[in-house]
Amino acid sequence: MSKPFRITWQIFWDWLFPPHCAACGARGAWLCAACLEALPRIVPPICPHCGEPQRSERLCRHCAQSASSLEGIRSFGLYAGPLQKAIWALKYEGLWVLVEPLSNLLAEYSRAHPLNVNLVAPVPLHKRRERRRGYNQSALLARALAERLGLPYCADLLVRCRDTPPQVGKSREERRLNMEGAFAPLHAIPEGARILLVDDVLTTGATLEACAAPLKAAGAAAVWGLTLARAALDTDRASPF
Ligand SMILES: [Zn+2]
Ligand SMILES: [Zn+2]
Repeated sequence: MSKPFRITWQIFWDWLFPPHCAACGARGAWLCAACLEALPRIVPPICPHCGEPQRSERLCRHCAQSASSLEGIRSFGLYAGPLQKAIWALKYEGLWVLVEPLSNLLAEYSRAHPLNVNLVAPVPLHKRRERRRGYNQSALLARALAERLGLPYCADLLVRCRDTPPQVGKSREERRLNMEGAFAPLHAIPEGARILLVDDVLTTGATLEACAAPLKAAGAAAVWGLTLARAALDTDRASPF
């Protein structure tokens, strides 16, 4: 699509479907300036491994006790307020235009807190679930983030080989068992690959761990997780409305 045509099309599209903030409904943008300002950003101190906000920079109680295949996990903000509403709208209401402002937040975070990575990949959905939803929101975010950071993007680095039952209401250990063996690499992992796995919401990290283990076993040099938000165990799927 040529640039003038794209601009004309965008003006026409905005006239047909005027942008309104996914979080507060205000006209003019899909995520308004006031809601962007009010996003519950995570600031240090955090656990240096899982990124959990806490009082010190020491490993949290959970990370101190358990082994991990990940180098670490970082999240832009808490799954609350305008961020929760925007992620909900992207995931369950098909408001894919939110990919742009939300991937900007991931890029902003990645520039402020650089991770030593050289390849971006999404946490995959099971094919059946992706067909039902029509898209994988994590893949849309990961691809846009890779573009913004100028890093290579691999859509099908991993495949989800099991459609796992929903994680809602499960304990940390039940989530880990539920996700075990759910992912496998689809291709040989490039030598020296330092992978940034992108997902929308983190709860216990069981999904990212289940992705990282087979990638490490297949030769990945490093695997980091980056999510837009992190949720408490009982709020991960609760509707924000
Ligand atoms: Zn707003
Ligand atoms: Zn931790």
